[in-house]
Amino acid sequence: MLEGQLTFFGGVGKSGGVQVLYGKGKQALLFDFGVEHSCLLFPTQVTLYEPVNATPGRELRQFLLGGMTAPLMELYDPEQMQGIDPAVVRRVWGGLQIPEYEQIRLYVGHMHTDHMALLPYAHPDLPVYMSHDSHSLYRGMVAGGHSLDTKAGITVCDDLGIIDFGEFTMQVIEMDHNATGVSGIIIDDGTYRIAYTGDWRRHGKHPDRIERFIELCRSKPIDVLITEGTRLTADPSTVAHQMTEEEVLSSCSELIGRAEGLVYLQMSPRDLERMADMISIATRHGRNILMEASLAAIWHTATREGLRILEGHPALEVPVQIVDATVTGGNAVPYDIITVDEVAKRKNEYLYFYKFPDLAHIIELETLGGLQGRSIFIQSDYSVKIDNASVAKFLKAYGIAGHSLSSGGHAHPEALTGLVERIAPKAVITLHSRYPESQTARGVKPYYPVKGETVSVSSILNRAASSVQG
Ligand SMILES: [Zn+2]
Ligand SMILES: [Zn+2]
Repeated sequence: MLEGQLTFFGGVGKSGGVQVLYGKGKQALLFDFGVEHSCLLFPTQVTLYEPVNATPGRELRQFLLGGMTAPLMELYDPEQMQGIDPAVVRRVWGGLQIPEYEQIRLYVGHMHTDHMALLPYAHPDLPVYMSHDSHSLYRGMVAGGHSLDTKAGITVCDDLGIIDFGEFTMQVIEMDHNATGVSGIIIDDGTYRIAYTGDWRRHGKHPDRIERFIELCRSKPIDVLITEGTRLTADPSTVAHQMTEEEVLSSCSELIGRAEGLVYLQMSPRDLERMADMISIATRHGRNILMEASLAAIWHTATREGLRILEGHPALEVPVQIVDATVTGGNAVPYDIITVDEVAKRKNEYLYFYKFPDLAHIIELETLGGLQGRSIFIQSDYSVKIDNASVAKFLKAYGIAGHSLSSGGHAHPEALTGLVERIAPKAVITLHSRYPESQTARGVKPYYPVKGETVSVSSILNRAASSVQG
């Protein structure tokens, strides 16, 4: 097939797990390599207690046999497939026709599990592309034990850089989302241009980046726009607006300024820009920084690899100490260690980047050192919420005030409509959403792919053009 075509392996009618293969001639590009949130084995994040998980060492077999990842055997590390029969894998997909390409490349848009869970199982010869800051974060996640490493070679891409694969080009455009290094792409094959937003939001710290993406798309212009639609519901007009990143940071600053005892802060270590901002805020309020050991390893490694988004950020100069109770098995740690007993003596001097499920540390920290005023617990965009039964039990037992300050990482439905209408593509495909049919944009025709479907770009455009706009 000489004409550009798309195959949809994941993210269709589901949240997360976008796996789309664009191919033309002998070449193809798979974008994103995660699994859907609702799949049988969503990989455990070490921050969560999740008893149902893929069996260590057999993960790839289980993802493939469970139909959770593209049935393209050339993507995967043969060693980790352990002799699995490709015919069985194809059968899982109902024996559908899958296009064949001489060379497939992989682009990973950001480091959330639903976009990169398969990366550790990639074939050593699979060329992988990602943004500079995504790569630094990934090195951090591996150092902190939050992800396995990959044997695949990674090419780090500059913001706005264009890579020519021969049959088509790919431009990487950094976006805004609660994962450091997030980026979207524009594929241009000389005939058609396809834009993929990745996960994005307008109410983060960098709305200018979303604006830039829109302007860039308008200047091409775009034939097929693929966007996420996580926050769409059956009735998008009722979806509440979330706090902006600025509001999250100023509320945190207020809380930390008023806190009497220890400040426990629970947030995602994949949002290193927020982590940096929290470090600066705590320092301004005269608090020293404590971290759980794996969070410290991520922070240390990622910032040492270099995060362009944090160039010149004051948090890079702030000393960090690691709480001794979080260091396991005599592992080497990148910063000085401080004992729980030391922290307990001067609770009002510290902010502790805390990791669920280390709740037991609270018993020691709150009981030792005597009464020093009330401690606070801030949960800021974290998978374990403040009303989690175990967290709530500990907060109650020790009279710790709990606060939830979240902005989320995904675009509000109004922002989605605004982006689609302004880019004005010939067709829009909403993935990473349970309600793609709720996506409305005046004058833009939707196309609803089916999981496993292969469709040429021209027939997407033809069908969209002939469809009646709802
Ligand atoms: Zn996602
Ligand atoms: Zn994400």
